Amino acid sequence: MIKIMRKISCLLLLAGFCFPAMAADIEDFRIWSGPDKTRAVLDLNGPVEHQLFTLQNPPRVVIDIPRAGLNAEFVLPSSRSAGPLSRIRHGVRANDTLRVVFDLNDDVKPKSFLLNPVAGHGHRLVIDLFPLQENEVIATPTWEPNPERQVIVAIDAGHGGEDPGAIGPHGVREKEVTLQIARRLHQELTAMPGISSFLVRDGDYYIEHRQRYEAARARRADLFVSIHADAFKTPRPSGSSVYILSRNGASSEAARLLANSENRADEIGGVYLGDKEDTVRTVILELSQSGTLQASDQAADSLLGSLKTIGKVHKDHVERANFAVLRSPDVPSVLVETAFISNPQEEARLQDPAHQARLAKAMAAGIEQHFHNQPPPGTWIANHRRPSRHIVSRGDTLGAIANHYQTSVSSLRQANGLRSDNILVGTVLVIPST
Ligand SMILES: [Zn+2]
Repeated sequence: MIKIMRKISCLLLLAGFCFPAMAADIEDFRIWSGPDKTRAVLDLNGPVEHQLFTLQNPPRVVIDIPRAGLNAEFVLPSSRSAGPLSRIRHGVRANDTLRVVFDLNDDVKPKSFLLNPVAGHGHRLVIDLFPLQENEVIATPTWEPNPERQVIVAIDAGHGGEDPGAIGPHGVREKEVTLQIARRLHQELTAMPGISSFLVRDGDYYIEHRQRYEAARARRADLFVSIHADAFKTPRPSGSSVYILSRNGASSEAARLLANSENRADEIGGVYLGDKEDTVRTVILELSQSGTLQASDQAADSLLGSLKTIGKVHKDHVERANFAVLRSPDVPSVLVETAFISNPQEEARLQDPAHQARLAKAMAAGIEQHFHNQPPPGTWIANHRRPSRHIVSRGDTLGAIANHYQTSVSSLRQANGLRSDNILVGTVLVIPST
């Protein structure tokens, strides 16, 4: 059917109805290779018609684009990042059709679609190559009869592939620093007793929001942490922020704007609109989230408290907005804006390995503290939990801390051997059990 439709539209084209609009040039070309597919992207200076088919012996994918010019060179990245592609050839056929041929090492299931211009990208023709044997992207959840299972943290490095995320004044790209920090956090968490973690994205490719949190659900994660770097239109704002999902509007106008710009990542990263999630399903999922939100809030609180010990935080409290990546109905989820990449000092720090290590350590400490405060039942931490601890942050008073943990100032003083009520930022207080 689709082929017939294409033929009809080609006939219309030949009849000259929309002839000039459909001539375009290929201006650039990129390859992104991830665990579930390899994505080829052609940048075009206008919309095109195209036809795609496969050939065997050897396996090839052929893309025919009528009346297209070529201003780009098809250079493949290193073999590891080229996925199944071994070579790209092109030629012009008799009827003025540009033919692009992907020579492949393996058979693939191709899928192609056009994307309209968005956020600095022009028209794009996307060709996704899926392996015939679907890769085990997500390990099948293994049910653990072990009563002392480890808690599982899903670490999501924001953006990737076609979507660079925010770009700093000196060109530092959010997608790169988030992946570096995510890898460091993974290392830190793995070294902690009772905690295991995995990287949702571990390379330079785009994963759509829904797939990110579905990866956490499939692995039965106890927490999903999405790592980002904030951007603002002026260079001044600075500091880390921690967000959770809000179903009823954002906690501030800036939070709403930020969520809108983060949510556009799917369009920039190249998510085909035809694949958009059924809205009704989304609504039903969102309705079942209240218990999850409370746990998200507690985790976010611990994370923010811990981040306060290493530097400035943008806001003193956890913020809320409707981030698409936080919409998991049953996995507590938080989003950390590690710093403002739009601030030149913070941009430099985000790239600095020593600062990345500090950030990762602080985030890991906050996550560990959260699980010791609220251990999921049946986990190693539930059986070996430490007394609750509180990391003193700016503005904290003994009275407020005592209130928060429903204890008294005098028992706080006693449990921590305090002689006065002066507490230094970064001090770790033991919270006596009541
Ligand atoms: Zn981001």
